[in-house]
Amino acid sequence: MHEFALAEGVAVTAVQAARKEGLQRITRLTVGIGELQQIERELFTGALREVMPAIHPQLAGVELELIVRPARLRCRACGQPFDLQAGNSELTEDQAEAIHFVPELAHTYLRCPACGSPDFEVMEGRGVWLEEIEGA
Ligand SMILES: [Zn+2]
Repeated sequence: MHEFALAEGVAVTAVQAARKEGLQRITRLTVGIGELQQIERELFTGALREVMPAIHPQLAGVELELIVRPARLRCRACGQPFDLQAGNSELTEDQAEAIHFVPELAHTYLRCPACGSPDFEVMEGRGVWLEEIEGA
């Protein structure tokens, strides 16, 4: 269950960020999730709730916000940057969901809008990160 490993990473980053910014108390964390990151959101939230107080008491009862950030892709053939929508304007909800769970499928469903190549790299859209920390 990699949700726990990801949650631990966010918690550790939050404690370091709080230290750097001289916060005594953390009230709110905003966590970014890449559109192509394979993650079960409910599991991840539960993992954060469980892992955070264990990492540091500062993180108990913190308000959490999860924001999914759109993926950014770039064609390896012609260099054109694009997103999921541009890569396949007829992408069905099922296909989009399949891509979210198995990001490798992106190459099956998406094509560069400029040259039609299925060969592209993911510039953004994977991973989980701490976007913002609030406290006093
Ligand atoms: Zn291209």
